Amino acid sequence: MRTNLNCMAHNCAFNKLGSCYASHIKVEGFDATVTPETYCDSFRNRHAFNLSNYSGELGLTNTQNISCSATNCLYNINGGCNATNVEINSENATCETFRLG
Ligand code: SF4
Repeated sequence: MRTNLNCMAHNCAFNKLGSCYASHIKVEGFDATVTPETYCDSFRNRHAFNLSNYSGELGLTNTQNISCSATNCLYNINGGCNATNVEINSENATCETFRLG
């Protein structure tokens, strides 16, 4: 199944083959002016987080399921994300789609 949220953080417990199954995610970066100042707050390291004990909802995450605090981003509309596609980075789960608006 395809989604417009492409997540390269394969070490996240919610990641399956580049798709996110957290059902919704929170991207942080209130004062961010560059990508490294953003990060996915929903990231959970798969070695430290046991998904089988997780009681929250699981489901494919699309960009409309993003809550984002990076208000300086061009795509941020009232805390939602208006980008056509979003890519989350592999190493530190930053938002590669962030653009200073
Ligand atoms: S593209 Fe912008 S608004 Fe969308 S998640 Fe990334 S930082 Fe937030």
